[in-house]
Amino acid sequence: MGGTCLNVGCIPSKALIHAANDFYKLRLFATQSLMGISASAPGIDQAKTRAWIASVVDGLSKGVAGLLKKAGVRCIRGEARFRDGKTVFVKSAEGEGRIRTEAIVVATGSEPVDLPSIPFGGDVLSSTEALSLREIPGRLAVVGAGYIGLEIGTAYAKLGTEVTIVEAADRILPQYDAALVAPIQRRLDRLGVRVMTSVKAQSWSNRSLLAGRASERPTLISTDKVLVAVGRRPHTKSLDLATLRLAMNGPFVRVDDRCRTSMRGIFAIGDVTGEPMLAHRAMAQGEMVADTVAGQPAIWDKIAVPAVCFTDPEIVAVGQGPEQVKAAGIDAVVAEFPFRANGRALASERDDGFVRVLARKDDGVLLGLQAVGESVSELSAAFGSALEMGARLEDVAATVHAHPTRSEAFHEACLKALGRPLHT
Ligand code: NAD
Repeated sequence: MGGTCLNVGCIPSKALIHAANDFYKLRLFATQSLMGISASAPGIDQAKTRAWIASVVDGLSKGVAGLLKKAGVRCIRGEARFRDGKTVFVKSAEGEGRIRTEAIVVATGSEPVDLPSIPFGGDVLSSTEALSLREIPGRLAVVGAGYIGLEIGTAYAKLGTEVTIVEAADRILPQYDAALVAPIQRRLDRLGVRVMTSVKAQSWSNRSLLAGRASERPTLISTDKVLVAVGRRPHTKSLDLATLRLAMNGPFVRVDDRCRTSMRGIFAIGDVTGEPMLAHRAMAQGEMVADTVAGQPAIWDKIAVPAVCFTDPEIVAVGQGPEQVKAAGIDAVVAEFPFRANGRALASERDDGFVRVLARKDDGVLLGLQAVGESVSELSAAFGSALEMGARLEDVAATVHAHPTRSEAFHEACLKALGRPLHT
């Protein structure tokens, strides 16, 4: 219960990142005394770390099962296949059963994509295997510097693995603007991660990954394992969706603003409906569909879906970025406030990064909010609420922000955008 996110995605990766951060700190203290703290020869027992990660996943999954039971939901463990728009066949340990129903919600998610020349298997890992390795690899090559490649690659670098990242685009996290990504690139350099951009992975054999630019001789990267993280595709095949001839949107199931597919009574939510492939979007869609099925009026009218990249430091982005605002021809004011002028950031020894606000010039309505820095994922709530409530710069500026917290950088960025900065 709980899908990719809970079982083999967001939750185990956050647990791995957490364990890796703590271990990395101890390793640092063992080589240099920082803040007066020193440590000697820290160790990690990967079997116990794995067991701890599994226990976190298990607890949450059981919690989901308990909630379903409490709500009176009948759960069948088996593989489903459509017969028609009102009937699903389910193959389970007890045999094949048939379910007739008025409404069906397709929430089958997505699966990792591999490269034809570097298929998954053996030492070529998808994120699923990379999150449950029996041993910490000596060397790891990561193909793709997107969300997954960077989150998992950074965690292993902190656990002591020699990590090389190969990215086809000209920078890491190409979906974000260069300024947001720069602190992450600097941190990877400090962690000793080798990052190769504008380079494509080509093939894998004998513990060597061949990667290179089109016009140049490829480089041979010696490595023990390869993590291929070049994106995900919707999970539609096993369901026999073709039987229904639902309208598609490329590889995704096409849905309208109520998550209705082209067939009456069939809804689709989550990764199977397209980008952004984020668990919190799927959950919000699910709530909306439940309301619709129950006869309540509901429609997808969200201003923004927050995106968080759990790299080091973290990125949070809600609403429009500078490139989108420019492309839309909106007259906007943009202001950034650096964490090096934030008391809490300075007191935690991590003052890299900044908060950025974008607002309409004429009335100050917020258009987009982004931040890069330690723990900025927690700013996603303030950012999301501000955009969803149609806040203006003045609204945030007039709100008392607790001191000392990183959220003060949001307040300060808004003051700066209004032309009355306090601390810069
Ligand atoms: P991604 O799209 O974020 O990144 C894939 C990267 O691989 C791209 O930068 C692309 O340029 C690169 N690439 C593609 N082919 C290549 C090749 N041959 N050689 C080198 N580089 C190549 O995909 P992902 O990291 O696999 O994540 C998949 C999805 O999972 C994301 O779209 C995201 O929605 C979701 N996800 C979200 C989070 C989060 O919210 N924190 C975390 C993990 C995953």
